[in-house]
Amino acid sequence: MNKPDVKEAATAQLFRKLPSIDEVMRSAGMARMADEYGRESAADSAREVLARLREEIALRLLDESTLELALAGLENAVETHLRRALSYSLRPVINATGVILHTNLGRAPLSVAAMEHIRETASQYSNLEFDLPAGVRGKRDVHVERLFQKLLGEEINGAEHGVSTIVVNNNAAAVLLALNTLAEGGEVIVSRGELVEIGGSFRIPDVMAKSGAILREVGTTNRTRISDYERAITDKTRLLLRVHRSNFEITGFTEQPSPAELIALARDRGIPLMEDLGSGALFDLRSVGIVGESGVLDSLRSGVSIVTYSGDKLLGGPQAGLISGDTSLIQRMRSNSLFRALRVDKLIYAALEATLLAYVRHDHRGIPALAMMRLTQAEVGERAEALALQLSNLKLPKLNIEVIDGESLLGGGSAPSSVLPTRLLAVSCEGVSADQMVDRLRGSNPPVIARVDENRVVLDLRTVFPADDIRVLQALLAFQS
Ligand SMILES: *Cc1c(COP(=O)(O)O)cnc(C)c1O
Repeated sequence: MNKPDVKEAATAQLFRKLPSIDEVMRSAGMARMADEYGRESAADSAREVLARLREEIALRLLDESTLELALAGLENAVETHLRRALSYSLRPVINATGVILHTNLGRAPLSVAAMEHIRETASQYSNLEFDLPAGVRGKRDVHVERLFQKLLGEEINGAEHGVSTIVVNNNAAAVLLALNTLAEGGEVIVSRGELVEIGGSFRIPDVMAKSGAILREVGTTNRTRISDYERAITDKTRLLLRVHRSNFEITGFTEQPSPAELIALARDRGIPLMEDLGSGALFDLRSVGIVGESGVLDSLRSGVSIVTYSGDKLLGGPQAGLISGDTSLIQRMRSNSLFRALRVDKLIYAALEATLLAYVRHDHRGIPALAMMRLTQAEVGERAEALALQLSNLKLPKLNIEVIDGESLLGGGSAPSSVLPTRLLAVSCEGVSADQMVDRLRGSNPPVIARVDENRVVLDLRTVFPADDIRVLQALLAFQS
């Protein structure tokens, strides 16, 4: 035999050592797993583990002795696989990035009250669409509409028909519904500098096309004047649209009409002005030190007809798209059949109602995202110092820990240039690179998500729930071993 044949024969020999699935399933250990996890799941995992071994033999990654070892650990490997297959993929992580509305990490964490309200209403029957006093069919949006009336309606005096709000799945759906209702077959005027793409492939031109409205771009990327809008208005124009530049800024040689100019133009021509705020705030952003950003009330007060915004950005609630504005326009959206397709379920109404109620009661600290924004640099710093002290008391020679100044971000496409001063734990470890450290922190249980800055790992406790500080400490301790 020549050499390749010898190798092939050896490989065939290894394949023959693999037990059949029936043989595997006959062992006492597998019988226990079949009992505990179900026979089918246990057999599926055994099949997966055997298939992996087969692959490793084919790739010549195993010889006789390593295969023996693998077979001796077969039951353990099956059980590990089984546990993973039957556990959740979606799980909690500790956000130590300092980005409060982190899109990859689920944006706004829900309040305790929201979770409690979901639990009590969604695990039982509820009056979701039942008018209890009258005993007849009701509407699901009455539960939040009364709160939006308090928060927005009673605050706006100028609106001709009053202000109403409807709820859809997310802000992308809100923009789609609004454009389709107000401008299908007609034209919508948008500045070139606002034809944005928001993370997760929300592009204004694409949503516009799907809505059946025709995009009429005006101005240039960096400069658009009110006269550009004026000249573009024809008898086909249905809407003027302003889009918040959520994730970028244009600086330098720039020009944009002021909101007041656009509002005056819209009024003069009798065309509604819509603003896609994205991260619409229902509180005064200046209270957390953010200036120059328009909240939902600011926009409506200044005369914008329709505002669209997300439920899980600065509002701090569940994923949802909110459309607030002139009641007669909102009424048209409500009767659009798309509204039925984009409606949200009872869990969202429960979470949103609890979140809005916190606003009505001025309980801003009850909303986790808002509570995080309101933390002062000193408050975050105290917690960071406490952790650093605990770690240094443990005398861990390999770990180097310092508390330094830094910046937290609002995230979620809100106020791209707005940062909050914070204090960071900066950690390095002898013999482990910062990149390796963040990988390992991500692999801890629960995963800790941190970032690298100048060859150190930095952790911002602003976005860590105080009860989790101890877990951050535990994750860091692992580097000592
Ligand atoms: C975030 C954002 C969107 C998309 O909102 P979702 O709730 O994620 O669908 C749309 N427009 C703007 C301006 C945004 O900031």
